[in-house]
Amino acid sequence: MANASLDPPDVPAAEDLPVATSGQAAGAGAALTAESEVVDLCRDLLRFESVNRGNGDGHERPIAEFVAEKLAEVGLEPVLLESAPGRTSVVTRLAGSDPSRSPLLIHGHLDVVPADPTDWRVHPFAGEELDGCLWGRGAIDMKDMDAMTLAVVRDMARSGRRPPRDLVVAFVADEEAGGTLGARWLVDNHPDHFADCTEAISEVGGFSYTVSDDLRLYLIETAEKGIAWMKLTVAGRAGHGSMLSEDNAVTKLCEAVARLGRHQFPIVVTPTVRVFLDSIGEALGIELDAGDIESTIAKLGPIARMVGATIRNTVNPTQLAAGHKVNVIPGEATAYVDGRYLPGQEEEFLRQVDELLGPEVRREWVVNDQALETGFDGPLVEAMASALRAEDPAARAVPYMLSGGTDAKSFSRLGIRCFGFSPLLLPPDLDFAGMFHGVDERVPVDALRFGVRVLDRFLASS
Ligand SMILES: [Zn+2]
Repeated sequence: MANASLDPPDVPAAEDLPVATSGQAAGAGAALTAESEVVDLCRDLLRFESVNRGNGDGHERPIAEFVAEKLAEVGLEPVLLESAPGRTSVVTRLAGSDPSRSPLLIHGHLDVVPADPTDWRVHPFAGEELDGCLWGRGAIDMKDMDAMTLAVVRDMARSGRRPPRDLVVAFVADEEAGGTLGARWLVDNHPDHFADCTEAISEVGGFSYTVSDDLRLYLIETAEKGIAWMKLTVAGRAGHGSMLSEDNAVTKLCEAVARLGRHQFPIVVTPTVRVFLDSIGEALGIELDAGDIESTIAKLGPIARMVGATIRNTVNPTQLAAGHKVNVIPGEATAYVDGRYLPGQEEEFLRQVDELLGPEVRREWVVNDQALETGFDGPLVEAMASALRAEDPAARAVPYMLSGGTDAKSFSRLGIRCFGFSPLLLPPDLDFAGMFHGVDERVPVDALRFGVRVLDRFLASS
Protein backbone atom coordinates (compact mmCIF):
# COMPACT_ATOMS: atom_id res chain seq x y z
CA MET A 1 0.00 0.00 0.00
CA ALA A 2 1.52 3.26 -1.10
CA ASN A 3 -0.48 5.67 1.00
CA ALA A 4 -2.75 4.70 3.84
CA SER A 5 -4.98 7.74 3.49
CA LEU A 6 -5.61 6.93 -0.17
CA ASP A 7 -5.96 3.27 0.47
CA PRO A 8 -8.64 2.46 2.99
CA PRO A 9 -8.84 -1.07 4.35
CA ASP A 10 -10.78 -3.65 2.41
CA VAL A 11 -14.46 -3.35 3.10
CA PRO A 12 -16.19 -6.66 3.75
CA ALA A 13 -19.28 -5.64 1.86
CA ALA A 14 -21.29 -8.69 2.84
CA GLU A 15 -21.60 -7.39 6.38
CA ASP A 16 -21.58 -3.67 5.80
CA LEU A 17 -23.76 -3.07 2.84
CA PRO A 18 -27.49 -2.58 3.12
CA VAL A 19 -29.80 -5.28 1.90
CA ALA A 20 -31.16 -4.49 -1.54
CA THR A 21 -34.45 -2.67 -1.68
CA SER A 22 -35.02 -2.79 -5.42
CA GLY A 23 -37.96 -4.54 -7.09
CA GLN A 24 -35.83 -7.65 -7.46
CA ALA A 25 -35.28 -8.06 -3.75
CA ALA A 26 -34.01 -11.30 -2.35
CA GLY A 27 -37.43 -12.57 -1.36
CA ALA A 28 -38.58 -12.58 -4.98
CA GLY A 29 -35.59 -14.79 -5.89
CA ALA A 30 -37.56 -17.86 -6.89
CA ALA A 31 -38.92 -16.24 -10.03
CA LEU A 32 -35.66 -14.65 -11.07
CA THR A 33 -33.30 -16.10 -13.62
CA ALA A 34 -30.21 -14.67 -15.25
CA GLU A 35 -32.13 -14.21 -18.47
CA SER A 36 -35.07 -12.51 -16.79
CA GLU A 37 -33.00 -9.92 -14.94
CA VAL A 38 -30.10 -9.15 -17.25
CA VAL A 39 -31.87 -6.30 -19.05
CA ASP A 40 -32.90 -4.65 -15.76
CA LEU A 41 -29.39 -5.02 -14.40
CA CYS A 42 -27.88 -3.50 -17.54
CA ARG A 43 -30.36 -0.60 -17.40
CA ASP A 44 -29.48 0.03 -13.75
CA LEU A 45 -25.75 0.04 -14.57
CA LEU A 46 -26.24 2.42 -17.51
CA ARG A 47 -27.91 4.96 -15.20
CA PHE A 48 -24.75 5.41 -13.15
CA GLU A 49 -22.65 8.22 -14.62
CA SER A 50 -19.41 6.41 -13.93
CA VAL A 51 -17.54 8.66 -16.35
CA ASN A 52 -13.77 8.52 -16.49
CA ARG A 53 -12.25 11.72 -17.88
CA GLY A 54 -8.66 10.57 -17.40
CA ASN A 55 -5.96 12.19 -15.25
CA GLY A 56 -7.50 10.62 -12.17
CA ASP A 57 -10.93 12.21 -12.74
CA GLY A 58 -13.43 9.41 -12.28
CA HIS A 59 -15.76 8.05 -9.65
CA GLU A 60 -16.82 4.42 -9.63
CA ARG A 61 -17.77 4.23 -5.96
CA PRO A 62 -21.60 4.46 -6.40
CA ILE A 63 -21.75 1.85 -9.17
CA ALA A 64 -19.28 -0.38 -7.31
CA GLU A 65 -21.50 -0.24 -4.21
CA PHE A 66 -24.51 -1.15 -6.34
CA VAL A 67 -22.68 -4.15 -7.81
CA ALA A 68 -21.49 -5.23 -4.36
CA GLU A 69 -25.05 -4.98 -3.08
CA LYS A 70 -26.29 -7.19 -5.92
CA LEU A 71 -23.62 -9.77 -5.10
CA ALA A 72 -24.21 -9.65 -1.34
CA GLU A 73 -27.95 -10.04 -1.88
CA VAL A 74 -27.41 -13.61 -3.11
CA GLY A 75 -25.00 -14.53 -0.35
CA LEU A 76 -21.69 -13.76 -2.02
CA GLU A 77 -19.01 -11.83 -0.15
CA PRO A 78 -17.84 -8.94 -2.30
CA VAL A 79 -14.82 -6.91 -1.25
CA LEU A 80 -14.53 -3.25 -2.17
CA LEU A 81 -10.99 -2.14 -2.96
CA GLU A 82 -10.23 1.52 -3.41
CA SER A 83 -7.07 2.83 -5.07
CA ALA A 84 -7.93 6.50 -4.43
CA PRO A 85 -11.02 8.20 -3.04
CA GLY A 86 -14.00 7.13 -5.12
CA ARG A 87 -11.97 4.90 -7.43
CA THR A 88 -13.53 1.65 -6.34
CA SER A 89 -13.31 -1.90 -7.65
CA VAL A 90 -15.27 -4.95 -6.46
CA VAL A 91 -13.94 -8.50 -6.25
CA THR A 92 -15.77 -11.63 -5.21
CA ARG A 93 -15.37 -15.37 -5.51
CA LEU A 94 -17.91 -18.07 -6.26
CA ALA A 95 -16.82 -21.51 -5.12
CA GLY A 96 -16.65 -24.22 -7.76
CA SER A 97 -17.32 -27.92 -7.31
CA ASP A 98 -13.75 -29.04 -8.03
CA PRO A 99 -11.24 -27.33 -5.71
CA SER A 100 -8.35 -28.95 -7.54
CA ARG A 101 -9.05 -26.80 -10.59
CA SER A 102 -7.57 -23.32 -10.91
CA PRO A 103 -10.06 -20.46 -10.81
CA LEU A 104 -11.31 -18.61 -13.86
CA LEU A 105 -11.25 -14.81 -13.71
CA ILE A 106 -14.11 -12.78 -15.18
CA HIS A 107 -13.28 -9.08 -15.20
CA GLY A 108 -15.26 -6.09 -16.38
CA HIS A 109 -14.70 -2.37 -16.02
CA LEU A 110 -17.32 -0.12 -14.45
CA ASP A 111 -16.14 3.18 -15.89
CA VAL A 112 -17.15 4.66 -19.24
CA VAL A 113 -15.83 7.43 -21.48
CA PRO A 114 -17.71 10.76 -21.48
CA ALA A 115 -20.79 11.31 -23.66
CA ASP A 116 -22.30 14.61 -24.79
CA PRO A 117 -26.12 14.32 -24.50
CA THR A 118 -26.66 16.88 -27.27
CA ASP A 119 -25.20 14.46 -29.81
CA TRP A 120 -27.40 11.54 -28.79
CA ARG A 121 -30.88 10.42 -29.82
CA VAL A 122 -31.65 9.58 -26.17
CA HIS A 123 -29.87 10.71 -23.02
CA PRO A 124 -26.67 8.63 -22.65
CA PHE A 125 -27.28 8.00 -18.93
CA ALA A 126 -31.04 7.40 -18.92
CA GLY A 127 -30.86 3.67 -19.67
CA GLU A 128 -33.72 3.97 -22.15
CA GLU A 129 -35.04 1.10 -24.19
CA LEU A 130 -35.89 1.97 -27.78
CA ASP A 131 -36.20 -0.09 -30.98
CA GLY A 132 -35.32 -3.29 -29.14
CA CYS A 133 -32.09 -1.88 -27.72
CA LEU A 134 -30.87 -0.49 -24.42
CA TRP A 135 -29.22 2.84 -25.17
CA GLY A 136 -26.51 4.49 -23.15
CA ARG A 137 -22.83 5.14 -22.68
CA GLY A 138 -21.32 1.79 -21.76
CA ALA A 139 -24.03 -0.30 -23.45
CA ILE A 140 -21.38 -2.30 -25.29
CA ASP A 141 -18.25 -1.00 -23.50
CA MET A 142 -18.83 -2.73 -21.19
CA LYS A 143 -21.82 -2.58 -18.91
CA ASP A 144 -23.45 -5.20 -21.13
CA MET A 145 -20.91 -7.80 -20.04
CA ASP A 146 -20.96 -6.48 -16.47
CA ALA A 147 -24.72 -7.08 -16.42
CA MET A 148 -24.41 -10.52 -18.03
CA THR A 149 -21.74 -11.53 -15.54
CA LEU A 150 -23.76 -10.24 -12.59
CA ALA A 151 -26.89 -11.99 -13.84
CA VAL A 152 -25.22 -15.38 -14.32
CA VAL A 153 -23.21 -15.27 -11.10
CA ARG A 154 -26.29 -14.22 -9.14
CA ASP A 155 -28.28 -17.02 -10.72
CA MET A 156 -25.65 -19.58 -9.79
CA ALA A 157 -25.38 -18.30 -6.23
CA ARG A 158 -29.15 -18.10 -5.79
CA SER A 159 -29.85 -21.55 -7.15
CA GLY A 160 -26.83 -23.22 -5.55
CA ARG A 161 -25.55 -24.37 -8.95
CA ARG A 162 -21.81 -24.64 -8.79
CA PRO A 163 -19.52 -24.16 -11.78
CA PRO A 164 -16.69 -26.70 -12.00
CA ARG A 165 -14.03 -24.08 -11.21
CA ASP A 166 -13.98 -21.28 -8.69
CA LEU A 167 -14.96 -18.05 -10.39
CA VAL A 168 -13.12 -14.90 -9.39
CA VAL A 169 -15.28 -11.99 -10.48
CA ALA A 170 -13.79 -8.49 -10.64
CA PHE A 171 -15.63 -5.30 -11.52
CA VAL A 172 -12.93 -2.69 -11.83
CA ALA A 173 -12.35 1.05 -12.01
CA ASP A 174 -10.34 3.16 -14.43
CA GLU A 175 -10.02 0.93 -17.51
CA GLU A 176 -10.73 3.86 -19.80
CA ALA A 177 -7.60 5.63 -18.53
CA GLY A 178 -5.35 2.59 -18.71
CA GLY A 179 -6.28 0.91 -15.42
CA THR A 180 -3.69 2.68 -13.26
CA LEU A 181 -6.32 3.09 -10.53
CA GLY A 182 -8.13 -0.13 -11.41
CA ALA A 183 -6.81 -3.41 -12.84
CA ARG A 184 -3.18 -2.40 -12.76
CA TRP A 185 -3.45 -1.20 -9.17
CA LEU A 186 -5.23 -4.42 -8.15
CA VAL A 187 -2.55 -6.54 -9.79
CA ASP A 188 0.22 -4.54 -8.08
CA ASN A 189 -1.42 -4.17 -4.66
CA HIS A 190 -3.86 -7.07 -4.26
CA PRO A 191 -2.51 -9.88 -6.42
CA ASP A 192 -3.68 -12.40 -3.81
CA HIS A 193 -7.23 -12.15 -5.16
CA PHE A 194 -6.08 -13.36 -8.59
CA ALA A 195 -2.89 -15.24 -7.87
CA ASP A 196 -4.16 -18.73 -8.63
CA CYS A 197 -6.26 -17.76 -11.69
CA THR A 198 -4.89 -19.25 -14.89
CA GLU A 199 -7.34 -17.88 -17.45
CA ALA A 200 -9.61 -14.88 -17.80
CA ILE A 201 -12.44 -13.61 -19.95
CA SER A 202 -13.57 -10.03 -20.51
CA GLU A 203 -14.54 -7.51 -23.16
CA VAL A 204 -14.26 -6.99 -26.94
CA GLY A 205 -14.70 -10.53 -28.09
CA GLY A 206 -17.38 -13.15 -28.59
CA PHE A 207 -19.57 -10.93 -30.78
CA SER A 208 -21.04 -12.12 -34.05
CA TYR A 209 -20.09 -11.14 -37.59
CA THR A 210 -22.78 -12.37 -39.94
CA VAL A 211 -21.58 -13.99 -43.13
CA SER A 212 -24.91 -15.55 -44.15
CA ASP A 213 -28.07 -16.95 -42.54
CA ASP A 214 -26.28 -20.17 -41.75
CA LEU A 215 -22.84 -18.86 -40.88
CA ARG A 216 -21.92 -16.38 -38.18
CA LEU A 217 -18.34 -15.88 -37.11
CA TYR A 218 -17.85 -15.08 -33.43
CA LEU A 219 -14.63 -13.17 -32.94
CA ILE A 220 -12.81 -14.25 -29.78
CA GLU A 221 -10.02 -11.90 -28.75
CA THR A 222 -6.77 -13.82 -28.28
CA ALA A 223 -4.30 -11.01 -28.97
CA GLU A 224 -3.88 -7.28 -28.37
CA LYS A 225 -1.46 -4.81 -29.82
CA GLY A 226 0.92 -3.07 -27.46
CA ILE A 227 0.47 0.59 -26.58
CA ALA A 228 3.27 3.07 -27.25
CA TRP A 229 2.05 6.56 -26.42
CA MET A 230 5.00 8.88 -26.80
CA LYS A 231 5.88 12.52 -26.24
CA LEU A 232 8.26 14.03 -28.79
CA THR A 233 10.24 17.16 -28.06
CA VAL A 234 12.52 19.21 -30.30
CA ALA A 235 14.65 22.12 -29.16
CA GLY A 236 15.72 24.99 -31.41
CA ARG A 237 16.84 28.58 -31.19
CA ALA A 238 14.21 31.02 -29.96
CA GLY A 239 14.05 34.41 -31.68
CA HIS A 240 12.17 37.06 -33.60
CA GLY A 241 9.79 35.77 -36.24
CA SER A 242 10.99 38.33 -38.80
CA MET A 243 14.59 37.17 -38.91
CA LEU A 244 16.35 34.27 -40.60
CA SER A 245 16.08 31.06 -38.60
CA GLU A 246 18.06 27.97 -39.45
CA ASP A 247 17.17 26.19 -36.25
CA ASN A 248 13.38 26.38 -35.88
CA ALA A 249 11.99 23.84 -33.42
CA VAL A 250 8.51 23.94 -34.95
CA THR A 251 9.80 23.19 -38.44
CA LYS A 252 11.98 20.34 -37.24
CA LEU A 253 9.25 18.81 -35.13
CA CYS A 254 6.68 19.02 -37.91
CA GLU A 255 9.04 17.32 -40.33
CA ALA A 256 9.69 14.48 -37.88
CA VAL A 257 6.01 14.06 -37.02
CA ALA A 258 5.06 14.05 -40.70
CA ARG A 259 7.69 11.41 -41.47
CA LEU A 260 6.29 9.24 -38.68
CA GLY A 261 2.63 9.82 -39.53
CA ARG A 262 3.09 9.08 -43.22
CA HIS A 263 5.23 6.03 -42.67
CA GLN A 264 3.73 2.68 -43.50
CA PHE A 265 5.26 0.02 -41.32
CA PRO A 266 5.84 -3.36 -42.96
CA ILE A 267 3.20 -6.07 -42.85
CA VAL A 268 3.76 -8.72 -40.18
CA VAL A 269 1.17 -11.48 -39.90
CA THR A 270 1.16 -12.97 -36.42
CA PRO A 271 -0.29 -16.46 -35.74
CA THR A 272 -3.61 -15.02 -34.51
CA VAL A 273 -4.09 -12.86 -37.58
CA ARG A 274 -3.06 -15.73 -39.86
CA VAL A 275 -5.77 -17.99 -38.42
CA PHE A 276 -8.27 -15.13 -38.53
CA LEU A 277 -7.58 -14.28 -42.16
CA ASP A 278 -7.70 -17.94 -43.19
CA SER A 279 -11.01 -18.44 -41.38
CA ILE A 280 -12.62 -15.32 -42.70
CA GLY A 281 -11.29 -15.88 -46.20
CA GLU A 282 -12.78 -19.37 -46.18
CA ALA A 283 -16.09 -18.16 -44.76
CA LEU A 284 -16.43 -15.39 -47.34
CA GLY A 285 -15.09 -17.47 -50.21
CA ILE A 286 -12.22 -15.04 -50.73
CA GLU A 287 -8.90 -16.36 -51.95
CA LEU A 288 -6.27 -15.12 -49.52
CA ASP A 289 -3.40 -13.69 -51.53
CA ALA A 290 -0.37 -13.85 -49.25
CA GLY A 291 1.41 -11.36 -51.51
CA ASP A 292 -1.40 -8.84 -51.34
CA ILE A 293 -3.02 -9.14 -47.95
CA GLU A 294 -4.22 -5.55 -47.97
CA SER A 295 -6.54 -5.93 -50.92
CA THR A 296 -7.93 -9.12 -49.38
CA ILE A 297 -8.66 -7.19 -46.19
CA ALA A 298 -10.29 -4.37 -48.16
CA LYS A 299 -12.93 -6.88 -49.29
CA LEU A 300 -14.03 -7.58 -45.72
CA GLY A 301 -16.36 -4.59 -45.61
CA PRO A 302 -17.07 -2.83 -42.32
CA ILE A 303 -14.42 -4.66 -40.28
CA ALA A 304 -11.61 -3.89 -42.74
CA ARG A 305 -10.50 -0.82 -40.78
CA MET A 306 -10.17 -2.82 -37.60
CA VAL A 307 -8.48 -5.85 -39.20
CA GLY A 308 -6.21 -3.62 -41.27
CA ALA A 309 -4.66 -2.25 -38.08
CA THR A 310 -3.66 -5.73 -36.92
CA ILE A 311 -1.24 -6.56 -39.74
CA ARG A 312 1.29 -3.81 -39.03
CA ASN A 313 2.60 -1.47 -36.37
CA THR A 314 1.06 1.99 -36.57
CA VAL A 315 1.71 5.52 -35.34
CA ASN A 316 -0.85 8.30 -35.44
CA PRO A 317 0.19 11.82 -34.43
CA THR A 318 -2.52 13.17 -32.10
CA GLN A 319 -1.36 16.38 -30.35
CA LEU A 320 0.93 19.30 -31.18
CA ALA A 321 2.10 22.22 -29.04
CA ALA A 322 4.55 25.07 -29.56
CA GLY A 323 4.84 28.82 -29.22
CA HIS A 324 2.72 31.53 -27.69
CA LYS A 325 2.81 34.39 -30.19
CA VAL A 326 2.80 34.65 -33.98
CA ASN A 327 6.04 36.67 -34.23
CA VAL A 328 8.05 34.75 -31.66
CA ILE A 329 9.97 31.60 -32.67
CA PRO A 330 9.72 29.23 -29.70
CA GLY A 331 12.73 27.42 -28.32
CA GLU A 332 10.86 24.13 -28.08
CA ALA A 333 8.06 22.22 -29.78
CA THR A 334 6.29 19.08 -28.60
CA ALA A 335 4.02 16.46 -30.10
CA TYR A 336 2.22 13.39 -28.83
CA VAL A 337 1.83 10.30 -30.96
CA ASP A 338 -0.24 7.14 -30.48
CA GLY A 339 1.87 4.13 -31.46
CA ARG A 340 0.66 0.52 -31.46
CA TYR A 341 2.90 -2.46 -31.98
CA LEU A 342 2.20 -6.08 -32.76
CA PRO A 343 3.10 -8.93 -30.39
CA GLY A 344 6.82 -9.62 -30.69
CA GLN A 345 7.45 -6.35 -32.53
CA GLU A 346 8.25 -3.86 -29.76
CA GLU A 347 11.98 -3.67 -30.32
CA GLU A 348 11.81 -3.52 -34.10
CA PHE A 349 9.00 -0.96 -33.92
CA LEU A 350 11.02 1.38 -31.70
CA ARG A 351 14.09 0.98 -33.87
CA GLN A 352 12.08 2.12 -36.88
CA VAL A 353 10.44 4.95 -34.96
CA ASP A 354 13.80 6.31 -33.82
CA GLU A 355 15.21 6.06 -37.32
CA LEU A 356 12.28 8.10 -38.67
CA LEU A 357 12.48 10.68 -35.91
CA GLY A 358 16.19 11.32 -36.32
CA PRO A 359 18.74 12.40 -33.70
CA GLU A 360 17.23 15.76 -32.80
CA VAL A 361 13.92 14.49 -31.46
CA ARG A 362 13.74 13.48 -27.82
CA ARG A 363 11.27 10.62 -27.31
CA GLU A 364 9.67 9.94 -23.90
CA TRP A 365 7.06 7.48 -22.77
CA VAL A 366 3.56 8.54 -21.86
CA VAL A 367 2.38 4.92 -21.73
CA ASN A 368 4.16 1.78 -22.83
CA ASP A 369 2.19 -1.40 -22.26
CA GLN A 370 2.81 -4.83 -23.62
CA ALA A 371 1.25 -6.59 -26.58
CA LEU A 372 -0.48 -9.91 -25.88
CA GLU A 373 -1.01 -13.08 -27.85
CA THR A 374 -2.21 -16.50 -26.76
CA GLY A 375 -3.12 -19.59 -28.73
CA PHE A 376 -6.64 -20.39 -29.87
CA ASP A 377 -6.65 -23.84 -28.35
CA GLY A 378 -7.34 -25.80 -25.20
CA PRO A 379 -10.46 -26.78 -23.24
CA LEU A 380 -11.45 -23.19 -22.44
CA VAL A 381 -11.54 -22.23 -26.11
CA GLU A 382 -13.51 -25.40 -26.88
CA ALA A 383 -15.97 -24.50 -24.15
CA MET A 384 -16.48 -21.04 -25.69
CA ALA A 385 -17.03 -22.49 -29.16
CA SER A 386 -19.47 -25.15 -28.02
CA ALA A 387 -21.46 -22.75 -25.79
CA LEU A 388 -21.86 -20.47 -28.80
CA ARG A 389 -22.89 -23.34 -31.08
CA ALA A 390 -25.44 -24.59 -28.56
CA GLU A 391 -27.22 -21.23 -28.67
CA ASP A 392 -26.55 -20.44 -32.33
CA PRO A 393 -26.13 -23.44 -34.65
CA ALA A 394 -24.65 -21.06 -37.27
CA ALA A 395 -21.81 -20.05 -34.91
CA ARG A 396 -18.18 -20.55 -35.75
CA ALA A 397 -15.64 -19.22 -33.25
CA VAL A 398 -12.52 -17.58 -34.68
CA PRO A 399 -9.62 -15.83 -32.96
CA TYR A 400 -8.76 -12.21 -33.68
CA MET A 401 -6.40 -9.50 -32.55
CA LEU A 402 -7.68 -6.29 -30.98
CA SER A 403 -5.89 -3.18 -32.27
CA GLY A 404 -6.64 -1.40 -28.98
CA GLY A 405 -5.88 -2.38 -25.41
CA THR A 406 -7.84 -3.61 -22.38
CA ASP A 407 -7.31 -4.56 -18.75
CA ALA A 408 -6.08 -7.91 -20.06
CA LYS A 409 -2.66 -6.24 -20.26
CA SER A 410 -2.66 -5.86 -16.47
CA PHE A 411 -4.09 -9.26 -15.55
CA SER A 412 -1.74 -11.07 -17.93
CA ARG A 413 1.13 -9.78 -15.77
CA LEU A 414 0.08 -12.43 -13.27
CA GLY A 415 0.55 -15.14 -15.89
CA ILE A 416 -3.16 -15.29 -16.68
CA ARG A 417 -4.18 -16.23 -20.24
CA CYS A 418 -6.66 -13.54 -21.23
CA PHE A 419 -9.48 -13.79 -23.76
CA GLY A 420 -12.06 -11.33 -25.00
CA PHE A 421 -15.31 -13.24 -24.62
CA SER A 422 -18.47 -11.22 -24.04
CA PRO A 423 -20.90 -13.18 -26.20
CA LEU A 424 -23.42 -11.17 -28.23
CA LEU A 425 -25.49 -12.21 -31.24
CA LEU A 426 -25.74 -8.94 -33.15
CA PRO A 427 -28.02 -7.90 -36.02
CA PRO A 428 -25.94 -7.87 -39.24
CA ASP A 429 -26.60 -4.18 -39.90
CA LEU A 430 -25.46 -2.91 -36.49
CA ASP A 431 -22.17 -0.96 -36.69
CA PHE A 432 -20.75 -2.63 -33.61
CA ALA A 433 -17.15 -1.45 -33.95
CA GLY A 434 -18.32 2.12 -34.55
CA MET A 435 -20.21 2.23 -31.26
CA PHE A 436 -17.16 1.85 -29.00
CA HIS A 437 -16.82 5.35 -27.50
CA GLY A 438 -19.26 6.48 -30.22
CA VAL A 439 -22.58 8.31 -30.28
CA ASP A 440 -25.84 6.36 -29.75
CA GLU A 441 -24.06 3.39 -28.19
CA ARG A 442 -26.65 0.66 -27.65
CA VAL A 443 -27.04 -3.05 -27.17
CA PRO A 444 -29.95 -5.16 -28.44
CA VAL A 445 -31.85 -6.63 -25.48
CA ASP A 446 -32.09 -9.96 -27.29
CA ALA A 447 -28.29 -9.95 -27.55
CA LEU A 448 -28.04 -9.54 -23.77
CA ARG A 449 -30.33 -12.51 -23.20
CA PHE A 450 -28.40 -14.55 -25.75
CA GLY A 451 -25.15 -13.56 -24.04
CA VAL A 452 -26.44 -14.69 -20.68
CA ARG A 453 -27.40 -18.11 -22.05
CA VAL A 454 -24.00 -18.56 -23.69
CA LEU A 455 -22.11 -17.32 -20.66
CA ASP A 456 -24.08 -19.62 -18.37
CA ARG A 457 -23.35 -22.65 -20.56
CA PHE A 458 -19.72 -21.67 -20.83
CA LEU A 459 -19.21 -21.18 -17.11
CA ALA A 460 -21.10 -24.36 -16.28
CA SER A 461 -18.92 -26.41 -18.62
CA SER A 462 -15.45 -24.86 -18.49
ZN1 LIG B 1 -14.02 -1.32 -22.53
